[in-house]
Amino acid sequence: MDKYNKIFKKLDEKEFNITSRELKNLNSLGINTIQELLYYFPRDYDDRTNIKKIGELVGEEYVVLKVKFLTITNPFSPSRMKMTKARATDGTGVIDVIWFRMPYLIKTLKTGEEYIIIGNVKRGYNFQMINPEYKKLSNQKNFDKGEILPIYSSKKNISQNNLRKILKKALNNYNNYFEENIPYDILKKYHILNRGKALSIIHFPKDKKLLEEAKRRFAIEELLILELGILENKYKEGNLKKRKYNISEKKELVKEYLKNLNFKLTNAQKKVITEIYKELNEGYFINRLIQGDVGSGKTIVSIILLLYIIENGYQGVIMAPTEILAVQHFLSVKDDFKTIGIEVELLTGSVKGKKREKILSKIGKGEIDLVIGTHALIEDNVEFDKLGLIVIDEQHRFGVVQRKKLREKGILSNLLVMSATPIPRSLALSIYGDLDVSVIDELPPGRQPIKTKWINNDVDLEKAYNFIEKKIIKGRQAYFVVPLIEDSEKISAKSLEEYRVEIENKFSKFSVGILHGKMKNNEKYDVMQKFKNKEIDILLSTTVVEVGINVPNATIISIINSERFGLSSLHQLRGRVGRGKFQSYCFLISKTENDNSKARMKIMEKTNDGFKIAEEDLRIRKSGEVFGVKQSGLSDLKFIDITQDIKTIKQVKEISEKYLESTKGDIKNPYLKKDIEEKFV
Ligand code: ADP
Ligand code: MG
Repeated sequence: MDKYNKIFKKLDEKEFNITSRELKNLNSLGINTIQELLYYFPRDYDDRTNIKKIGELVGEEYVVLKVKFLTITNPFSPSRMKMTKARATDGTGVIDVIWFRMPYLIKTLKTGEEYIIIGNVKRGYNFQMINPEYKKLSNQKNFDKGEILPIYSSKKNISQNNLRKILKKALNNYNNYFEENIPYDILKKYHILNRGKALSIIHFPKDKKLLEEAKRRFAIEELLILELGILENKYKEGNLKKRKYNISEKKELVKEYLKNLNFKLTNAQKKVITEIYKELNEGYFINRLIQGDVGSGKTIVSIILLLYIIENGYQGVIMAPTEILAVQHFLSVKDDFKTIGIEVELLTGSVKGKKREKILSKIGKGEIDLVIGTHALIEDNVEFDKLGLIVIDEQHRFGVVQRKKLREKGILSNLLVMSATPIPRSLALSIYGDLDVSVIDELPPGRQPIKTKWINNDVDLEKAYNFIEKKIIKGRQAYFVVPLIEDSEKISAKSLEEYRVEIENKFSKFSVGILHGKMKNNEKYDVMQKFKNKEIDILLSTTVVEVGINVPNATIISIINSERFGLSSLHQLRGRVGRGKFQSYCFLISKTENDNSKARMKIMEKTNDGFKIAEEDLRIRKSGEVFGVKQSGLSDLKFIDITQDIKTIKQVKEISEKYLESTKGDIKNPYLKKDIEEKFV
């Protein structure tokens, strides 16, 4: 380990012969240690392996030529830009080469000597190259096959050449210290390049094929760290065994609660509930994802299981991604729970001071049965008396890292995570590798598909407004959503205010409420309650309503500048309507000319099915954030593009499972172990 630790050493100005300003620049790129330096991979490459003969040239391409200059002149140029013009040949043809603003070349370049010139060839009367790079061939060793130069993302004040030099040096001095962090058997079996070799290649590849192999190695390394981290616990010896704890068969509270419910559970809901009952009764811990499209009724499933657990003397928690959603959950169970004698409390970031302390102490003494709060609950030192079940709502907002953290707090017994966001099946397995999956594949009866229309001109917009007006007169309610980014500095209540003026003018007969993330908790609470009670007809909101909000009487959602949203968000937002028996509508308001945005609008018009949308999303995207994968842990992978490398993702999942099976959950390789620990801090 001693030797290995050298790679975590801070960069030294002297050793790398850099100024303190350059060092600062490196730091600002996230490069502080040797390890970070050598893991700062090129964003692209300058491929100079295309060595050609002039006689083979056809048109525009980036080439390397070996030439001799026949003539070199400084012809008169009418502009102030001085010009150097040369004619070059390699025996198979001639090419004209022009350099601007480098009049001195006439002295430095020699006719009759061999040069390499590198640049883009243009086809004019003759073939032409403008401002190519040139090198004397006699100074170039081993240039037979050309070279591939790394291009790093960098700021202006540190040049590519400098970065290349620094990286070369680091490779020379430290490459040997990078111990292998992929178990040897895996390396061998899957023909994976070893770490040291891959590091040299990724920075200074000899050819493209090797480069691909090096990229694959780091993709696998990165995924392996993630997957093993996710899966490790599942394979730890103790966890494979079931643990007995007292849970009775009686379900009095559940029955009482169901009696007062004004609908019947769907078969899909029942199926999931029984599945989990069974698991509990057999003495297993639950580790389960409940997946169901927006509006499929996941909340009630978790409520019933919470009741069951509480009836058995345990406490429960619901964690939601936003305060607004936490408040909604709280409001929706508060009264019913009170009548059956269950203590429930809301605990979010804005519950402060004495009140918070009081709640915390009650939780500690077991006087509160159910705590509802935001995901921040796990950051807090909330101590439970007897925690029996944790429910995480909208799991896609909650990454594997937090999940693991939660589990490692040791407070965790049973975990139920709920996600509305269908993610492509191919990815689901990896992201949720540590969980069993139940699917609610049925919507409550009477739901009609939401009618979706893309509005891209003012005439249609006017029509839509009239339509909305009519629906409100009939007693329905409407959402307007504007694309302000929550949590960012930029959120300006003012521009939301501008929208408000506009909407209030258009809909002067109705009452308009406003909702955004920066409002105080009790203000949010107030607006939501008013919207629920129909005191507000139109709710103008930022994307804080994106997840979970449930007001079945609201049947129209208009998404302003809908091109600014990804499919995942659009589908979630649309899911705010169509939650009751009335026909619902979604207007996507956007004048976008962008092809990709248009494609998104069309997909939304075409289908309501979250899974289909997820697959389409994967198809139209080249890279970047994929449906429902945000913060899952897969989205911040540096060396892998999850839209392109699904095969690798699957393979690494398999590799990880086999490995953990064979080691019973132990990570034997110490270097790998360290990486995992670091990833999941
Ligand atoms: P989601 O799965 O999106 O979280 P919710 O749990 O919020 O959905 O449920 C959406 C709406 O459907 C709620 O108003 C809820 O009361 C209602 N609901 C849930 N289950 C049923 C059912 N079996 N029959 C009728 N309505 C239901
Ligand atoms: Mg929900």
